[in-house]
Amino acid sequence: HSRLRLILGDQLNTSHSWYRQKDDNILYVIAELLQEASYVCHHVQKLCAFFAAMANFAETLRNAGHQVLYLTLDDTASFASLPELLSHLLEKHQATQFEYQLPDEYRLREQLAQFCQSAAMKAVGTTVYDTEHFYLSDEEIHRTFSRGKRHRMEAFYRKMRVRFHILMDGEEPEGGRWNYDAQNRNKLKADDLKLVPEPLLFANDVRDILARIKRHGIQTIGKESLHLIWPVNVQQASELLSYFCHNGLKHFGRFQDAMTGKLGATDMKRQFGLFHSRLSFALNSKMLSPQHVISTVIEHYHTRKPRMDLAQVEGFVRQILGWREFIRGIYWANMPEYESCNGLDATRPLPSWFWTGETRMHCLRQAITQSLDMAYAHHIQRLMITGNFCLLAGVDPDQVDNWYMGIYIDAIQWVELPNTRGMSQFADNGIVGSKAYAASGNYVKKMSDYCSDCHYRVTETTTPNACPLNALYWHFMHDNQTAFAANPRNKMVYAVWGKKSEDQRQAILERAAACLDDIEEL
Ligand code: FAD
Repeated sequence: HSRLRLILGDQLNTSHSWYRQKDDNILYVIAELLQEASYVCHHVQKLCAFFAAMANFAETLRNAGHQVLYLTLDDTASFASLPELLSHLLEKHQATQFEYQLPDEYRLREQLAQFCQSAAMKAVGTTVYDTEHFYLSDEEIHRTFSRGKRHRMEAFYRKMRVRFHILMDGEEPEGGRWNYDAQNRNKLKADDLKLVPEPLLFANDVRDILARIKRHGIQTIGKESLHLIWPVNVQQASELLSYFCHNGLKHFGRFQDAMTGKLGATDMKRQFGLFHSRLSFALNSKMLSPQHVISTVIEHYHTRKPRMDLAQVEGFVRQILGWREFIRGIYWANMPEYESCNGLDATRPLPSWFWTGETRMHCLRQAITQSLDMAYAHHIQRLMITGNFCLLAGVDPDQVDNWYMGIYIDAIQWVELPNTRGMSQFADNGIVGSKAYAASGNYVKKMSDYCSDCHYRVTETTTPNACPLNALYWHFMHDNQTAFAANPRNKMVYAVWGKKSEDQRQAILERAAACLDDIEEL
């Protein structure tokens, strides 16, 4: 083989132009790597899902007549890093050309760029390709996003709608409005619980992979599952997309912020995804393209009788065409500084119950246990339950990132980091969001049914049994008053705080201090 092409674990895009022609001079390499499996402590299901999807992708390429080398951990464990493995393979196959697609993680992009410039590569030509996955090419995101700038998602999203002509009626947004948020975001009432569909779960046999993970002593978190529920090939990913169109989409926007603990008393599976698509792993591994997901959803909307409400569809399109592309732009414009920003100087260690779910706060217990069991939580659980707690408690964003990077099936740094450090922890001083997503127990009460089954009382703030989020919220706002008070969106909050008596404020701050002192016992 004269050419060696590397395919990373999140580059499983069968439609890439690389595969249009068969060429026996090209050897495709897909490799399970210790460096990738252990740079953070991953959820065991996440490792299984990536390795299974990579192996299936190799099989698909082979069946299409390409030359493919699939290396398991057993084959690669003796190489200290990806560059070492590549040097070995280039020599072994006497390749004169090395090609790869631009990694979506900064860490890997740097590693491969340095490798290509190294002395070992003097005699080897290199070519780098776009992954051909996102709406915006790599070059375009650099033209669209600037370092340190406070870009706003809504403006970006509207431009994307116009540019790609998605849900447009000529120059105008279909239905006459860009944004249906006001109609969306309802709570799931007891009566609505029957609307929650049974989730479509796969049962992929991953016993061999689990054995390899153990054999190589890779540290993992979360619940092991011999039969992986996540889609690991294009067919399963497409089935999940179709299932979502038929079962989740019609209520997606309405209940996108809702949370329930009532369906999972015996089995977490019934409640964990609600009306969400759970397509993030299929998207982030690139088994599905964002264009395909959006066009399938819109096609479904246009052909389905009776027609469903536009607000549901727009709410979903916004997540992928808007948020997903936006987050990626923020990442590339601000790396590498972004991964160490800590605008609120948060330094507290992450409570150890984040790794077990053992806390008496019902909302946190639900979100964490579910994450450990399923490697998944939906957006509002990530943002307003676990994320909000860390924000209010001032947890060190390195530790918060570490937890999110490990635990979720879809966690890859380009998308995890701006969501966690930026949107959720406000450590970027407002590059992603115009204001910190801080909330008291009242928000949890409004958007979920967790509080009625909680040890703590959501209606109380200063008593020993009061919901810790209430005092922690005020403590957080008080602590950051200098930074936050200038934002007009916080005006009301500080007006309410200012109206409290000195004694009330004191009692609240004391309760917050007690919660923080006793954080491990909450
Ligand atoms: P749905 O609710 O069905 O949404 C559809 C798709 O929209 C998702 O699959 C995803 O591709 C996209 N999307 C929605 N919201 C976002 C967003 N804020 N940023 C980027 N894409 C979005 N998403 C990840 O893919 N990987 C992560 O590591 C990740 N970490 C997060 C950490 C925090 C603290 C927060 C608040 C959010 C994070 N998200 C992350 C975004 C979002 O929560 C997940 O994409 C979503 O929950 C995945 O579930 P789903 O496929 O059912 O999504």
